[in-house]
Amino acid sequence: MLRDAVRSLAEAKIAPHAAAVDEEARFPQEALDALTANDLHAVHVPEEYGGAGADALATVIVIEEVARACASSSLIPAVNKLGSLPVILSGSEELKKKYMTPLAKGDGMFSYCLSEPDAGSDAAGMKTKAVRDGDFWVLNGVKRWITNAGVSEYYTVMAVTDPTKRSKGISAFVVEKSDEGVSFGAPEKKLGIKGSPTREVYLDNVRIPADRMIGAEGTGFATAMKTLDHTRITIAAQALGIAQGALDYAKGYVQERKQFGKPIADFQGIQFMLADMAMKIEAARQLTYAAAAKSERGDADLTFQGAAAKCFASDVAMEVTTDAVQLLGGYGYTRDYPVERMMRDAKITQIYEGTNQVQRIVMARNLP
Ligand SMILES: Cc1cc2nc3c(=O)[nH]c(=O)nc-3n(C[C@H](O)[C@H](O)[C@H](O)COP(=O)(O)OP(=O)(O)OC[C@H]3O[C@@H](n4cnc5c(N)ncnc54)[C@H](O)[C@@H]3O)c2cc1C
Repeated sequence: MLRDAVRSLAEAKIAPHAAAVDEEARFPQEALDALTANDLHAVHVPEEYGGAGADALATVIVIEEVARACASSSLIPAVNKLGSLPVILSGSEELKKKYMTPLAKGDGMFSYCLSEPDAGSDAAGMKTKAVRDGDFWVLNGVKRWITNAGVSEYYTVMAVTDPTKRSKGISAFVVEKSDEGVSFGAPEKKLGIKGSPTREVYLDNVRIPADRMIGAEGTGFATAMKTLDHTRITIAAQALGIAQGALDYAKGYVQERKQFGKPIADFQGIQFMLADMAMKIEAARQLTYAAAAKSERGDADLTFQGAAAKCFASDVAMEVTTDAVQLLGGYGYTRDYPVERMMRDAKITQIYEGTNQVQRIVMARNLP
């Protein structure tokens, strides 16, 4: 029922704008409005804070179905979870009430600020600093590649509070867009997910009350990594949705397109490609849903399974979307058809929330 409802909404209100959002590299406001009106913009927020209380699998299905129509739009529910999960996992009750309530209502989105210009895969090498000053912390630094920066009201920021302790000297904070000293860079000009703004976040003597720290001092990096264990599964869901969208489009196209006097779908070479695409998507789906169940239960092998789902599903998305372009021939290579956009959008799923090389490092360190 959830899948049907989200699919209908995405087809009616999100898909019609996907090409323009990509072409104009503009924020998918129509998608945000439609998702918020239907309580699908941050479905993971628990009911006690006014949220929909969706479990990890339901959240995956929402993201998957939105991504099937528009990958940029799927980053609304996905990054709302990424940005706010540190608060849900490690924040005080007051912090949860203060920030989950407006998020659930649709009054403000959440972003996640881990990466920096010189700290990507090696995120613990970050330089952004937070220095205690009485009942306040003062933050200085630059966060890079922040999804939905400038649009979001709230930012989970990881910053160094003790430079002698590397990852154990990093703490997490909630920073608000309206805090004095917060500003944003120009939107990055990207290959894909062009509707999702990616910007730098500048923190210039941002003075915030001490109770904005998420969890205890020095636990920010652990919280950031624990968050990714859960949210890599949402990137797997995004990848899965993009791949399914490409397969569905290609499946229809090959019935219509005639060469040598018959639909190209009649050629076995085409049928075998479609069979492989569907097989890979189904394998990615099973891995992703199983990982979502593990996320919900907090299973001990979640770290491996989350990395495996993200790595596998994103590689599948890249293969399937590339094959979809191939199935449309020259037409597939143009912006008159959606598979070209889907192929560009798929690429990012192999890069963010840890590149697929990093996922392999994570898996190797956590072999079942
Ligand atoms: C569109 C977009 C949105 C993003 N959104 C966010 C966000 O909202 N919040 C956030 O915090 N970050 C975000 N990121 C950042 C993203 O997570 C990083 O780009 C990613 O982790 C890689 O870091 P890097 O770009 O510095 O690459 P690098 O770390 O410089 O990596 C370069 C290459 O080296 C490889 N490599 C690095 N180390 C190793 C190793 N030990 N072994 C093998 N290979 C290795 C990598 O796999 C990659 O192929 C986003 C990025 C993009 C492009």
